[in-house]
Amino acid sequence: MSDNAPLVIIGTGLAGYNLAKEFRKLDAERPLMLISADDGRFYSKPLLSTGFAKGKEADELAMQDGEAMAEQLGAQVLTGQEVTAIDTRERLVRLGERSLPYSDLVLATGAQVRTLPWREALAERLLSINDLADYGRFRAALNGRRSVLIVGAGLIGCEFANDLRLGGFEVTVVASDPWLMPQLLPEQAAAAVQAGLEELGVEFHLGCAIENMALEGDGLRVRLDSGVELVADQGLSAIGLVPRSELAEAAGLAAGRGVQVDRQLRTSDPHVYALGDCAEVAGLNLMYVMPLMTSARALAKTLSGTPTEVGYPAMPIMVKTPACPLVVTPPLSGVAGSWQCDVEGRDVRARFVDANGQLHGFALTGVAVAEKLQLTRELPAWLD
Ligand code: FAD
Repeated sequence: MSDNAPLVIIGTGLAGYNLAKEFRKLDAERPLMLISADDGRFYSKPLLSTGFAKGKEADELAMQDGEAMAEQLGAQVLTGQEVTAIDTRERLVRLGERSLPYSDLVLATGAQVRTLPWREALAERLLSINDLADYGRFRAALNGRRSVLIVGAGLIGCEFANDLRLGGFEVTVVASDPWLMPQLLPEQAAAAVQAGLEELGVEFHLGCAIENMALEGDGLRVRLDSGVELVADQGLSAIGLVPRSELAEAAGLAAGRGVQVDRQLRTSDPHVYALGDCAEVAGLNLMYVMPLMTSARALAKTLSGTPTEVGYPAMPIMVKTPACPLVVTPPLSGVAGSWQCDVEGRDVRARFVDANGQLHGFALTGVAVAEKLQLTRELPAWLD
């Protein structure tokens, strides 16, 4: 490793850029480099699932390009460059044939979408949206089309269902799940959200598997195991995300549900750290903005010389389904307990409590979302 090798961050999503911003508040001098496989534009990923209602092009969602970010951060930002390997012994990152030294390295490589078996054969007719480029590609594919079939009824599938409907498209959602967002919600809260989306005009086929998807004319034909056949102009796959940990694993770093790091965000190598969607922090892989912002502040301190452990309070997620307002703080996996629900039409107050009556999570819909702050105060921290 050369003496003045930079701190290198792989990834220019919210995790990479927010860490760089926090770090620069504490250390204006240390050489800093960010490397990204994408074009390095700074944008807020949550806005991708509100862009159709607002009629926003991808360019309008980008806040700054890589060059402007480099100047603002006093950093080098390498865009369109994929890191292909990490040599932890020599402290080098490899970009194909090229090698670059690092003093410390941070993985902020995000998560990648799970794909359906028909993805390649259907090409532009079945896309996913996980970054700004995907969003631009999907918007282009929708040009002149009216109907969208969304596969997946998780948070992202539901948000796009609401947004595309508000954007004027006919929307059908197909999922093998028995109800919406089953990892986050009890059935009663999901039913309220589904009713709100149905009132808006979204059609659901839940609890059924897709047997086949094929091109038909200029669109798609989809056969479900229930025997139902559906046609749509365009497909959107939203069947989940998997942390990107291959680079770390190939370099011999520990990984499980993401790149495993301790409370200081340090991997099994003392000079390599991870945060954001790619990281499993003390056993938790939380693919949301608040945890990565909290991690960025703690890691910036550690990297500027004050070793700091990250702590996570319980953090509610505002789900962007305006057809039925929803806020949820899911119980951490492995916590024993059950949902207790008060239902008044579309207003659901669902509390996840253990045998001692301790609250571990909640889901609030409709007017009940007003209770968010009060219930959040009752929750134990996720990481003390
Ligand atoms: P990413 O943004 O995925 O960034 C990863 C970066 O790593 C990219 O720059 C990529 O190019 C780079 N990279 C990867 N591999 C390499 C490599 N080998 N070499 C070089 N570069 C590489 N969360 C909320 O809390 N609230 C919401 O309302 C919300 N809405 C969402 C809506 C949508 C549609 C989606 C998809 C997610 C949403 N999320 C939301 C989740 C949230 O956006 C993510 O948790 C967050 O943006 C992840 O940021 P990240 O920087 O970890 O990853």
